[in-house]
This record gives sequence, C-alpha cells and structure tokens, in this order.
Amino acid sequence: MYMQKLPYDAFRAMHAAAKQDGITLKILSASRSFYHQKSIWEAKWNGKRKVGGIRNIKRTIKDPTKRARKILEYSSMPGSSRHHWGTDIDLNAFNNSYFSKGQGKKVYSWLVRNAPRYGFCQPYTRKDASRPTGYNEEKWHWSFKPLAASYTKQAQLRLNDNIFNGFDGSKTATRIGIINRYVLGIHANCY
Ligand SMILES: [Zn+2]
Repeated sequence: MYMQKLPYDAFRAMHAAAKQDGITLKILSASRSFYHQKSIWEAKWNGKRKVGGIRNIKRTIKDPTKRARKILEYSSMPGSSRHHWGTDIDLNAFNNSYFSKGQGKKVYSWLVRNAPRYGFCQPYTRKDASRPTGYNEEKWHWSFKPLAASYTKQAQLRLNDNIFNGFDGSKTATRIGIINRYVLGIHANCY
C-alpha cells in the first residue's frame, strides 16, 4: 500500500501513541488509483460484487441514476475518491458495527479524541442536518487534513461533473451532482 510521506509519518506517530494506550491501528486501504477504483465500481455496477447485501444490483436496480446512488452509499466514482489523494486511509474494519462495541468501540473513541492532534479527521460522519448529503457514515475512514483540506478546495474550484468518463455508469455523474454532494459532502472538521 502507498500513501504520501507526510501523512504516513503522522500516522506512524499516531500509531505509536495509540499502542501506548493499548490500541492497535491497522491500515486496511490507503491510496487507490483511478483504475483500482474503476474495478471496484464496475464490479458493483455490473452485479459482480454485492452492494449493501444486494447480490446483483444490475438486475434489481435498472435505473442508472438509482443504481449509482445505491453504490454511492459507500463507494465513490473513479476520479472522485479521496483515496486518489494519498492522504486518506481506512482503519481496522470496513463496518461501523465493529466500532460500536468492545475493542472496536475503544479504537473509535481513541481516534475521535486523539486523531485531530496528528492531523486526521473523519470526513464521513453520521448524516444529519450538518452533513445532509454524501456517503454514509464510515467510522474507518480518516483523512490527513493538512493536505486534504487544500485538495478539497482545489476540487471545489477546478472539478465539475462533466469530467467523469472512462467507466460504466459515468454519465450519471451530472444528474447526481458528484462534486457538490459527495466530494464536498464532508464533515466541517475536514474543511
Ligand atoms: Zn475509505
């Protein structure tokens, strides 16, 4: 796995501090290329990989926009993922239930309390009035704000929904509003 050096150094410092408190942080996914994201997205789009318990979304959701929105609960369109940036990591487990009890709950509480000191924020918090659009909550996804906040700003200034191309379902981007609702649909702590 790869990520940028600055966030990795910060992660190592955070990892060591967590260890002192009996908490083990493990990176499950870091940087992912457009093509890696395309393989994840298209496997879901074409019904070869489960989406939220649905075995074959291609068969059950015919409408392209609705199908894309279902995938977008947890997966981003190729080109729009924060994992392209080298600043974002997924930690310990890819499900919120792990973080709601036992050791996982301790891990999450530790991160909420301490990660900001190392520069990390959680972009995908619970959806509510303060974060009305975007991906569902991901307690495992953490972002290195000193770099990622400026990338978010650049995305806001330079990207638009017409750039999405080169993968199945890309034409739904404009109707959905990928940049505004998903790329910019992050918690205020990560801006
Ligand atoms: Zn992630």
